[in-house]
Amino acid sequence: MSSNPVAATVASLMPRAKEELTELVAFKSVADFDQFPRSESEGAARWIADALTAEGFQEVALLDTPDGTQSVYGYLPGPEGARTVLLYAHYDVQPPLDESGWTTPPFELTERDGRWYGRGTADCKGGVIMHLLALRALRADGGVPVHVKVIVEGSEEQGTGGLERYAEEHPDLLTADAVVIGDAGNFRAGLPTVTSTLRGMTLVRVSVDTLEGNLHSGQFGGAAPDALAALVRVLDSLRAEDGSTTVDGLSADSAWDGLQYDDDQFRKDAKVLDGVELIGSGTVADRIWARPAVTVLGIDCPPVVGATPSVQASARALISLRVPPGVDAAEATALLRAHLESRTPWGARVSTEQIGQGQAFRADTTSPAYRAMAEAMAVAYPGQEMQFAGQGGSIPLCNTLAALYPKAEILLIGLSEPEARIHAVNESVSPDELERLSVAEALFLRTYASGAN
Ligand SMILES: [Zn+2]
Repeated sequence: MSSNPVAATVASLMPRAKEELTELVAFKSVADFDQFPRSESEGAARWIADALTAEGFQEVALLDTPDGTQSVYGYLPGPEGARTVLLYAHYDVQPPLDESGWTTPPFELTERDGRWYGRGTADCKGGVIMHLLALRALRADGGVPVHVKVIVEGSEEQGTGGLERYAEEHPDLLTADAVVIGDAGNFRAGLPTVTSTLRGMTLVRVSVDTLEGNLHSGQFGGAAPDALAALVRVLDSLRAEDGSTTVDGLSADSAWDGLQYDDDQFRKDAKVLDGVELIGSGTVADRIWARPAVTVLGIDCPPVVGATPSVQASARALISLRVPPGVDAAEATALLRAHLESRTPWGARVSTEQIGQGQAFRADTTSPAYRAMAEAMAVAYPGQEMQFAGQGGSIPLCNTLAALYPKAEILLIGLSEPEARIHAVNESVSPDELERLSVAEALFLRTYASGAN
């Protein structure tokens, strides 16, 4: 790899990158100001603003987003007529959870067995450093050939949507030809991966009523219509025998054509108990990235402790449906509601309510940006080819950007490979991944700028 001048520069910048990541990790920037003082987040934001200014960025600003946090923005102009690339990361982190579960203190970057431990090292303060490294390597070797916008969010982990709403209110701010979201990860360390699809989701609440009030199960049970039994039956109708999701009218046979997820690896990652089968049909990748998945998130019914001998008059449940790419979330919501309403037995009164909804996302992987990234990753990871993975969850900002800038190509890369254990205790980043992905990002910017691909 070091035969490439950009790679050699990034390698020489790694000691400084470690110092910088150490400084950034030291801010306890959890965007829940009841748990951690606001000054910690403000310190991290200021650190990033200063770093961008030092790199020659203009218009550097701390943007006050509607959720009461700050996103950091900066603009680095490139040559006239060049394409514009938006680089995204976030500086807020998950809380450390059980601090005694950490081998070394969560907010002190510590090297151990070739990895750097600390909250946010991978998710996503390492992403901030990755962007800085890529730009520095280009500046040291002929300059940055595109216009670059950087946006670093301050409340991604809270899901409060501050940056999404800010972007909608300032639709010109983040316009770009391509967007690199530095908040995903390789499928495993050493295997360069772009996440090219995200499932959408819908949340529906279903309520079933059968009686004016609860009845004694000895006196009335057997003929009195039980609302909880009706709910159980309608919930069960959402699954086939093998556990696949079956919502009337919703197709569930799409196939995933990128990277495959080995069954045994999945069992291990999901910590499935011995002897328990996986559910669904098709490959694991089909099931988690290309097909719908229903999950009952909660049921309102009497808890076991304190339960009385009663036939229940009412019961309700909250249902999540993950919506595969290519399916409109609103249509999936309508199908789910119709299914629940028509499949509830015994003429029980049923009502459904939509609680939330987010669209799925699918990138055009044949676009110039994807071709440029494939070329760049092949250089940064010698002997490897870029892989496509999906993500079963959603990233709302992705949808916001895709809706605001339908022509922009969105690429999700990052440092959160499985060993990074993001969101858990003992989060860490692989410095090797940081180095290679920074090289990949730098070469991507150069190849994408040249327009030769
Ligand atoms: Zn993240």
